[in-house]
Amino acid sequence: MSHLNNFLNRGKCSYCNNSVLIQRKYSGENLCQQCFVNNIEKNVNNTISKYRMLNPNDKIIVGLSGGKDSIALLYNLNKIQKKVYQSEPIIALIIDEGIKNYRENSIKKAKEFCIKYEIEYKVISFKEKIGYTLDEIIKKKRDSSDYKYACNYCATFRRRLLNDGAKEFGGTVLALGHNLTDLAETYLMNILYKRLHLIGNQYFFKEENVKVRQYFIKKVIPLMRIPEEEILLYANIKKFNYYPLHCPYREKDPIIRKRVLDFIQECKKYSPEIEFNLLNGFLELSAVLYNQIEGKLFQTCQLCGYPCGNGQICIYCRYLKEFD
Ligand code: SF4
Ligand SMILES: [Zn+2]
Ligand SMILES: [Zn+2]
Repeated sequence: MSHLNNFLNRGKCSYCNNSVLIQRKYSGENLCQQCFVNNIEKNVNNTISKYRMLNPNDKIIVGLSGGKDSIALLYNLNKIQKKVYQSEPIIALIIDEGIKNYRENSIKKAKEFCIKYEIEYKVISFKEKIGYTLDEIIKKKRDSSDYKYACNYCATFRRRLLNDGAKEFGGTVLALGHNLTDLAETYLMNILYKRLHLIGNQYFFKEENVKVRQYFIKKVIPLMRIPEEEILLYANIKKFNYYPLHCPYREKDPIIRKRVLDFIQECKKYSPEIEFNLLNGFLELSAVLYNQIEGKLFQTCQLCGYPCGNGQICIYCRYLKEFD
């Protein structure tokens, strides 16, 4: 936990007499280790209540990768479900994209965590559902003119498999481990590429629309108000046995995402609240855009029948067709 030294600071905690572990520049708080842990867990609870993420009878499915975020999320939701909701037990849903020397390691950590906390888990693989691993897809596509970078294929397929898997296992809500930094990064990317339809599509309450609910399970992001570095600190304090490395494709593909993240980190040095501004901007704009789209005709994909902006062929089916 050498990185903890970066946060070590002198002085007293804002809430008790213990010495400070972390100074939060965005809020001005100084927190000791115990108050920090309590605060993170309270943050998750408050986010769930504030955004009406869970109902007492929900069957919660948690997308689990074995990384720090999804493990921290599963740990907290498991506690909340048992203490507060007492609904059917949580199921962890693990997607195996088929990324050699990476995913098998994180899946191992994911399974070990579930076994330790006696949480049921299911694994769904790209190979079994799509016919190819992500590595095979990239090998097939890398030299073609319409190659879209690994993350585009990966995220499109994973989103669909998570959604369908969660529904298949009886879920009423799918919880995902994205943190504040992930959300800020995605939102800024979508702004830079003027992907307004995607911002509208990510509107949190869209599944309240009955038509949408026929296809998509309700998705919730309880860690959305916690910056990445705080999840890392929390996961280390809790001694979670997570898989710490990033996916190799993130570095290999010259995508702009990593640069956008670096830019946000740079801005944070001068404007510590910047990620929260991006989150709030996303929440407001997604509501406006979604309500605009909703007024339009509800269109579906000609191949799979899922909602599709242009009423022709959705991106999932378009990518699938590329491998025929
Ligand atoms: S970094 Fe990209 S390729 Fe790797 S798991 Fe994430 S979305 Fe998939
Ligand atoms: Zn304290
Ligand atoms: Zn389709």
